[in-house]
Amino acid sequence: MRIVLLGPPGAGKGTQASSLAIELGVPHVASGDLFRDAVRQGTALGLKAKHYMDRGELVPDDLTTAMVLERLEQPDAANGVILDGFPRTHAQATSLDRELHGIGQQIDLVLNLEVPDDVLISRLSGRWICRQCQRAYHEVFNPPTKPGVCDACGGDLYQREDDRRETAVRRLEVYERQTAPLIDYYRERSLLREVNGDQTVEEVRKALVDAVTQGSV
Ligand code: AMP
Repeated sequence: MRIVLLGPPGAGKGTQASSLAIELGVPHVASGDLFRDAVRQGTALGLKAKHYMDRGELVPDDLTTAMVLERLEQPDAANGVILDGFPRTHAQATSLDRELHGIGQQIDLVLNLEVPDDVLISRLSGRWICRQCQRAYHEVFNPPTKPGVCDACGGDLYQREDDRRETAVRRLEVYERQTAPLIDYYRERSLLREVNGDQTVEEVRKALVDAVTQGSV
């Protein structure tokens, strides 16, 4: 199954996509993680992407689409994938449809995580991420047992530069303008299911699994 997880920054896409991917036995492909890897490795793509990421803006479509499509060509993605953070623009969505169509594949389901803006801002501005396994914590809503240390793998926790409050607000604006229109794009194609993301991690996880087991709409 090829699933797109849609939703604003801070909706819990990363956390949920990673557990859904384990549940379904398919890779979790997160465009933000691919960019952060490129930045860490200091590649030419990473250098270009950092400029946009630090400002809370979208990396240009051509760079983003080429990077994600290359990842989708890896053998582990042949039978399914959970896409997290991609597509984020109309151009990315149409490129993805075209490429998949060309190899006899398609997106089967789009899950949209809905969370109110005020909740998103408080979630984003207290977020800590594990440097090693990328697991997300929140200093108030979901703190690690030991401050600064990941419960899952013992890795160091850090705050993403683009999670500062002003950048978080900017990312939400960018989301509204460029990504929210994709909700209608996928609704018109009868692929969309809405899931309430303003619940506990476990409740959201169950709601997503239910939406997947009910199959494509
Ligand atoms: P994320 O971890 O998904 O919040 O992504 C972090 C940052 O990476 C975003 O704020 C963008 O700068 C960049 N990024 C990730 N995915 C995309 C995408 N599909 N299109 C453009 N930029 C992206």
